[in-house]
Amino acid sequence: MRANPADSAERYALCNLSQSGSSISSNDIGVTTSLQKYSEQTWGLWCWLTMFLRSMLLASRGTTLRPPPKLNAPSLRKPLQLLFRRQLHLAPPFLLDDYVPRYQLLSSIDAARKRSSAYAHLSNCNLCPRLCSVNRFETTGHCLIGSNILVNTIAPHFGEEPCLQGHNGSGSVFFSGCNLRCVFCQNHDIAHQRNGMELTPEELADWMVKLQEVGNVHNINFVTPEHVVPQVALAILHARDLGLKVPIVYNTSAFDSLESLELMDGLVDIYLPDFKVWRDETSKRLLKADKYAEHARESIREMYRQVGDLCFTGDGIAKKGVLVRHLVMPGKEEEGVEIVKWLAGSLSRDTFVHIMEQYFPRAHVGKPRRGPNAEKRYADLNRAIKDEELGVVMKAARDAGLWRFQEAARHEGFNI
Ligand code: SF4
Repeated sequence: MRANPADSAERYALCNLSQSGSSISSNDIGVTTSLQKYSEQTWGLWCWLTMFLRSMLLASRGTTLRPPPKLNAPSLRKPLQLLFRRQLHLAPPFLLDDYVPRYQLLSSIDAARKRSSAYAHLSNCNLCPRLCSVNRFETTGHCLIGSNILVNTIAPHFGEEPCLQGHNGSGSVFFSGCNLRCVFCQNHDIAHQRNGMELTPEELADWMVKLQEVGNVHNINFVTPEHVVPQVALAILHARDLGLKVPIVYNTSAFDSLESLELMDGLVDIYLPDFKVWRDETSKRLLKADKYAEHARESIREMYRQVGDLCFTGDGIAKKGVLVRHLVMPGKEEEGVEIVKWLAGSLSRDTFVHIMEQYFPRAHVGKPRRGPNAEKRYADLNRAIKDEELGVVMKAARDAGLWRFQEAARHEGFNI
């Protein structure tokens, strides 16, 4: 296609002007005038457009420095808001480009130290606040588990938070036994009864790699591992040598000791503590443990020190950090209020919290007492929670400044 002679002349004049700024011949005057007009028009249009966009942007944020131009503003506001809005709803500090599990970064010296510390703990077990001081190669303590672990179920699990289970599931390992004795235990069949297969740490490591290779799971999720921390540490280190690459989730009742969390430091990527109750009398009556809340606070602080706030990769899968759960219980909403206030005030307002509503009477709750009197045990807990009880805890959490909740997204993006 041939060039337009007028365009060529304009380009030539512009070139001359910019090079020398010398005098202009009479033949060039017409071309120069049209150039000036063209420049003025373009500049004017550009200024108007910039002012318009700026004032529309400020107006969309509720701030106006000067009145926006009166040009079809309502019809343009929506497209502009869409243009300037963050699309994925990811708060930048919690978004990771990529993630390498912490156990992959452990030096061989640190790994050897952890192995030897794990065996030492088993020979004189003070791994949880029960402080039994038993040699678990010979006998058992309060948790009734010796040196080999008892595993009830190993499978991809789809009952966890969406950011943990993703599309392929969370590779869950449900251990038999527990160091608590919750009368309302929601996993009673697993935690209170010694059902399952006995595994060495090496055999558990084989299963972890199978979950990764065959199940394609997003993580390995140890459920109620407080009483088997040394065996879990040995299994993670062995699985690392076998090629494990997915993050490790430590799914705990928060009745841990600082010694066992020190052993887990560098091996766990996501801590998933369940903060159950606040008052000591409730702890004694319902969990059969002294000072549960005091130990839970200490443990969760240490977990947060190790891995910080919950972070995600762009696919919405959690990779590192602390996710705190609290199961709202019938008539115990005031304890929930204290827990969420403590999380906001003493841990972080950015703590990711799952306030759970699925309480169901299980284990010893509602069972008839022995003897002629058919009165039911723990009758005050023998019902589901009410909406108002859940609402009280949720409101207290928001009022305290928490804002990252496990709940249905109110927009089309991920709720992280
Ligand atoms: S882990 Fe078991 S044996 Fe060890 S202190 Fe706790 S309850 Fe006792």
